[in-house]
Amino acid sequence: MQHGTIFDIKQFAVHDGPGIRTTVFLKGCTLSCQWCHNPEGISPSLDLFFNSYLCMKCNTCFNLCPNEAIIDDSKITILRELCDKCMLCANDCPTEALQKSGRSINSTELMEEILKSTIYYDFSEGGVTFSGGEPLLQSSFLKEVLEKCKKEGIHTTLDTSGYSSLKILKSVIDYIDLFLFDLKLINERLHKEFTGVPNKQIIENLRFITQTRSNDVIIRIPIIPGITSTDQNIEDILTLLSSLNMVKEVNLLPFHNVSEKYDRLGMEYKLDHVRAPSDEEMAKVKERFEEKGFKVK
Ligand code: SF4
Ligand code: SF4
Repeated sequence: MQHGTIFDIKQFAVHDGPGIRTTVFLKGCTLSCQWCHNPEGISPSLDLFFNSYLCMKCNTCFNLCPNEAIIDDSKITILRELCDKCMLCANDCPTEALQKSGRSINSTELMEEILKSTIYYDFSEGGVTFSGGEPLLQSSFLKEVLEKCKKEGIHTTLDTSGYSSLKILKSVIDYIDLFLFDLKLINERLHKEFTGVPNKQIIENLRFITQTRSNDVIIRIPIIPGITSTDQNIEDILTLLSSLNMVKEVNLLPFHNVSEKYDRLGMEYKLDHVRAPSDEEMAKVKERFEEKGFKVK
């Protein structure tokens, strides 16, 4: 039986595909998009969250840490470079100021979680969505769970960056009913600068999926002022999408600042200077897609 690493299971999700869904967040992603709102999904291993406002300075963690990675000064400080994520501190923190993100789960255990909401899937034409992180990074585990979902007649959605080998994509494609395919930047240099990886494989994979499954793809575009929402990038995305078999729908996802989450993980947030797009900016981008005949949400 396959084991995977997940960092969350969200029941009653309504924004991750049709109907009422269970969204499973798998850990690990090759990309490191500067705007990522699930930074705890990037590392394939466990993460340690520290919510300083919950800390009552009991010093339990300081006394437990085998690596001297916790400093007890005016406030608790974690020296991330010394932390090996043993999680002794998180296991015993009385206020949950320290929390572990990530856990191992096997496909049977995950199916038990997914099956809890079957009645809601039936009633709302919902199902299960695999998100992350990048679910394709745990393809053997993902495939086993997808097979089980299909046996149960559950609608499956994959929320993906599209960054994987074609071989991996082909190994799961027949078990996926709907793709939420993220498209960020078309210019390869900018894609590499803001996500850490080139986009050639992503675009090739999108072409491959839309060749046979054009009605089962929703394109998701994060709208980040000055980065993804530039006139040139929107034009480039429109040119690409127009060259493909027609995709079903385009979803525009407005940027919002998640610096606090990065702070809690001890990660650097590079987009603190970026503001959320205004309603007018969102409407302008929406109009450009609608003019070309796309259904836009
Ligand atoms: S164990 Fe928790 S509450 Fe106690 S000092 Fe450490 S972080 Fe704060
Ligand atoms: S998880 Fe890190 S900070 Fe916590 S006890 Fe282990 S080494 Fe120390």
